[in-house]
Amino acid sequence: MAENESTKVCPLCAETIKATAKVCPHCRHWQTKWSLQNPQIGLALYSLVMFAFVIGAGTFYEKAFGPKEQFATYRSEIGVVNSQFSQRTSGSNLWITVVGTLTNLSNVGWKDVGVEAQFFDKSGKLIDAITVNASDYHGVTILPHGETAFKIEGRASHPAIDYETNKLNVRWAKDLDAWLP
Ligand SMILES: [Zn+2]
Repeated sequence: MAENESTKVCPLCAETIKATAKVCPHCRHWQTKWSLQNPQIGLALYSLVMFAFVIGAGTFYEKAFGPKEQFATYRSEIGVVNSQFSQRTSGSNLWITVVGTLTNLSNVGWKDVGVEAQFFDKSGKLIDAITVNASDYHGVTILPHGETAFKIEGRASHPAIDYETNKLNVRWAKDLDAWLP
């Protein structure tokens, strides 16, 4: 009986082997299923790691090169809700400034949002335009259904009295989820 207890039958080759054997000495079959040294378990783990890597690479590829939301599609959902125009002189230069609030009604977050201000004289003629300065605006974002403040400033090309009205337009924006430009 004691001898029987210390042996078992290999499930692959049906030879009687020691109960504590990890590998069958006759056919090299692994007796313990969940050993890391078992080549089958090793292969399964390797497959799992490769699978995770492929999924990760796929996500990266999608972020880097995949389709991005185009601003043009959402143009009507990103707007200026309020703004203030001001002028100041610095030396011999006249500076015009517009500060305001942008609102995003879409489900998409946007970055590098560009705002253009157009200025009109009393007759309604376009006399000047300034756009947001890239250095001022770098990294400014609007989250989905969010608001953000903006400021644009430029040197006036006309006398202060000519600036009767202004109009603001959101000219460009990039999908916040896009990693590459
Ligand atoms: Zn065997």
